Amino acid sequence: MTDMLWHPAMLPLSFGLLGSMLFVWRTYIRLHEGKRQLERQREEHRSLFQNNVDGVVAVDSEGAILMANPAACDLVGLGEDELVGRPFPDLIVEEGRSRANAALEAALGGIHSTLETEVQHLESELSEVELTSVPIVIGDDVVGAYEILRDSTERKRLERELEDRALHDYLTGLPNRALFSDRLAHALNRRRRDAESVALLYVDLDRFKPINDRAGHKVGDHLLCEVATRLKSLVRDADTVARIGGDEFAVLLETVDGEAQALAAAERIVAVVRAPIITGGEEHQVGASVGIAVSTEDLESPEELVHQADLAMYEAKRRGGFQFKLYSHELEQEGSGWADQIEGQLRRAVEKEELELVYQPIVDVGGSRIVGVEALVRWTHPEHGLLMPNAFIAVAEKSSLIAEIDRWVLEQSCNDIKRLLDFGVMDTPFCLSVNLSARHFDESDFVDAIEDIVRRTRFPSNLLQLEITESSAGGDPEKVRELKQLGVKVAIDDFGTGYSSLSYLKDLDVDVLKVDRSFVLALGADPASVAIVRTILTLAEMLNLEVIVEGIEDPVQLAHLEDLGGSLVQGFFFGRPVPATDLPNLLSNGIDVTKGRVHHDEKEEVGAVRGLPPLGASALSIIPKSHRKWKPGRRRP
Ligand code: C2E
Ligand code: MG
Ligand code: MG
Repeated sequence: MTDMLWHPAMLPLSFGLLGSMLFVWRTYIRLHEGKRQLERQREEHRSLFQNNVDGVVAVDSEGAILMANPAACDLVGLGEDELVGRPFPDLIVEEGRSRANAALEAALGGIHSTLETEVQHLESELSEVELTSVPIVIGDDVVGAYEILRDSTERKRLERELEDRALHDYLTGLPNRALFSDRLAHALNRRRRDAESVALLYVDLDRFKPINDRAGHKVGDHLLCEVATRLKSLVRDADTVARIGGDEFAVLLETVDGEAQALAAAERIVAVVRAPIITGGEEHQVGASVGIAVSTEDLESPEELVHQADLAMYEAKRRGGFQFKLYSHELEQEGSGWADQIEGQLRRAVEKEELELVYQPIVDVGGSRIVGVEALVRWTHPEHGLLMPNAFIAVAEKSSLIAEIDRWVLEQSCNDIKRLLDFGVMDTPFCLSVNLSARHFDESDFVDAIEDIVRRTRFPSNLLQLEITESSAGGDPEKVRELKQLGVKVAIDDFGTGYSSLSYLKDLDVDVLKVDRSFVLALGADPASVAIVRTILTLAEMLNLEVIVEGIEDPVQLAHLEDLGGSLVQGFFFGRPVPATDLPNLLSNGIDVTKGRVHHDEKEEVGAVRGLPPLGASALSIIPKSHRKWKPGRRRP
């Protein structure tokens, strides 16, 4: 029977049948699989649409809403059923509507775009959003658009807060130097048009430092706040009182009808500041040295007025303080003589080996390890003794002398640290951080000079970190890239004190942000500072940047910072700057993160007063021999 039904000649036919059946089966499976996949994709898309944290609205080719996800509904405070059918641009505030319309039309023409605008919530406030319009394309046709609304209210608020913080003094809330400079420039511009005078009063407190040192920072802070309040009470709303330094304030009188009015204001300032201040049950008295400069028709720049007020203030101080002094041309003659003298002496200081370097540890709190040091320059002046950088860097920055100093510092510190590295004193990676001034950065041979020093000293470039200012980095990103090509790290120093904008950072090829000390000072007291430091840390993480927080002075500040997640720090709590000769000891003792390194307190100042030999070019030659022998064998694991 089987033989009858099946004949070898039928073999091709059977295979053909079987093949067709298989083909049909496979096609069925493929179609089924395809349908399943399609459904799955649809599900995924639906899920992406529904669960998206950004608001997503689909609109048709007329701009009417077809669908809106829950995030979009939340943003405007309406249900999806209330939204469907409405023109999408209606959700945008009136001022932004025409731009949103244009973006929608562009999307319907196949072009993506993003803009910043606001949407109005039905019941509550406006939300700031980043609105992205993208075409919906099916086949070759644009059939509608997706409008994606990313709520940027919180980010914007923090950005504004950071910018505001960058322009105000954390302690007194007064405008800081940056904002003051801006206001002064505006006032002078307006004056050019209105033919009025502007008066600038520089106020430096007398006897503040001894009270601050003796009675403590809390009392010092209270005194500063009280002075701020008193100064503010003297001026009109249009005028500005700023804190421009530790115990320095500036007052800008927007319109004065001559010197007499400015003198009267200065007299009042001297009187209100000298009135006793009671704090902590004790009565304290500080004074004010006030320098006055009134704009004249031939004034060339705001800097000129600042210079005049500064010079006059210095004269008031020189005469014993508690008084005011009006700028005059004669002061210029005397003042410039003094600056010239310092400048001339500073020029010779490098040759005479009067400059020396100290190193402040940079600590990884998480890893309980000193990960590097920052080189800081000191000048042992033949008459004035130890001078800190703020006494002479500004003078050096007035000319190319700063480049000479910076280059000396770089070369000297590379030599110092290279020798310690060669001795195996520190665990690597260990970073040497060196400051470079903005004026030096601007010079045309800047990168070549750095390269030359790194090559000559044979310092491992990957262990070198160069600290530049926000204005340097922002002003010439290309130069930053050139610098990076040397293999070094680039850090932004004093981050947050300039006109910092978070957005410019992402375009800059830098590695590290050094958060300015003023943020740390405010951490305990000012919730805004906490938010800002948190934002900086988050931002840095997003941009893959390291953060070093400067100026940690006590365990409370450290605890605040650790709560926020910061780990790399620098500050007196861990160690004041010390000469290179002390580094082996410092590194071998390590860091106790709970106790800091207070035993290194004052070493630098004490050393200077006792007249330790300047480090000069042979810093390591004065490292005790016992240390040299000890180093390789006692290296920490
Ligand atoms: P910087 O680069 O921000 O250096 C940190 C300054 O903060 C140092 O002051 C350091 O001693 C001080 N500091 C560190 N921790 C604490 C702390 O916990 N509390 C307090 N109150 N201060 C702390 P220093 O050495 O007086 O230097 C001041 C500035 O002078 C430096 O600020 C830097 O801008 C400039 N500078 C120092 N050395 C050089 C240099 O070689 N070249 C250039 N161009 N500038 C330099
Ligand atoms: Mg620095
Ligand atoms: Mg700094």
